[in-house]
Amino acid sequence: MPDEKKLSLQDLSEKKISEVLSGYPSFRAKQVYLASMQYKEYEQMSNLPKDIIAFLSERYDDTAVRIQKVFEGKDGTEKYLFLLRDGNMIEGVFMPHGYGNTICISTQVGCRMGCAFCASTLNGLVRNLTAGEMLGQVLAVNVRHGGTLKKRAITNIVLMGSGEPLDNYDETTEFLRLVSAENGINISLRNISLSTCGLADKIKLLADSGLSVTLTISLHAPTDEIREKIMPVERKYKIAEVLDAARYYFAKTGRRVIIEYSLIKGVNSRVAEAKKLARLLRGFSCHVNLINLNEVKERDLSGVDKATADAFMTALTESGISNTMRRSMGNDIGGACGQLRRKFVGEEGTY
Ligand code: SAH
Repeated sequence: MPDEKKLSLQDLSEKKISEVLSGYPSFRAKQVYLASMQYKEYEQMSNLPKDIIAFLSERYDDTAVRIQKVFEGKDGTEKYLFLLRDGNMIEGVFMPHGYGNTICISTQVGCRMGCAFCASTLNGLVRNLTAGEMLGQVLAVNVRHGGTLKKRAITNIVLMGSGEPLDNYDETTEFLRLVSAENGINISLRNISLSTCGLADKIKLLADSGLSVTLTISLHAPTDEIREKIMPVERKYKIAEVLDAARYYFAKTGRRVIIEYSLIKGVNSRVAEAKKLARLLRGFSCHVNLINLNEVKERDLSGVDKATADAFMTALTESGISNTMRRSMGNDIGGACGQLRRKFVGEEGTY
């Protein structure tokens, strides 16, 4: 990063802004906080005196991320490339639903978890995002869709873009506090899903934090042997340990856990594997979210045909495991799971 210490205004809570501006009348801090949450640039903050703008701009950037490119899908999905202040790029996706709009955001530039099927991890981890850079993605898209703080254009958030949120625990949990703050965009923790490849100790920490988001576990396999082939994290945390942590999460928060399971041809998608999965999850209050693997060109793995997917679902249902098949949105714009950023890495961005 050219200027590593310079955070953006979105990294600051309302309280922190009050502290930073303690030399000024207190209503100024409130004005700055609201401007930040409305994602205004310094030049748009016309209600603030020049000396405060100068004071702040020396210390903080006005906006943490900017929308560099937008790809509009036929189904209303939008895919974004966000440009960070150090020139790095991350991706996000906007998905309209009948009940509201969901944004999928990134938590790291790249990822070091190494899952065999995921495009985000191909070049390893570049760096963690700050809490403000996560919040910036939400605010930029809220404003783009005409949303305000009172009337939000974003109602739901999923932490399923690039990165492993629990590998960036402190910034991710700070983001959860900032995004659910009462005077900010105030998105309820209930409407936020945090997806993890299964860092068991961090799952427990999150359970104890009081930040009761919906927890999604990327399981993708019913046995340690299969999981090991596709998810290196398995070497550190075995399935039993991950599910123990998930049970702990449920016990602490009362929130049903979602199990994410991508169907991969010849790897984890036979009826025998569905039955093993059902046995593994019996008695646990969870829901299985199936998704057909999106092919990643660089990887030699593919999804399954409809008959295989149907047979897998039927086997789960017959064993009493609640499940749905996730509709993959935004395929036409490379919007599905980690597909976009790589095409543009290397392309120059200007912030
Ligand atoms: N690191 C977190 C969140 C990011 S990935 C995690 O592992 O959960 C979000 C979800 O997309 C995860 O369930 C991940 O396993 C899945 N995913 C990644 N690449 C995929 C692909 N090519 N096809 C289908 N799902 C994929």
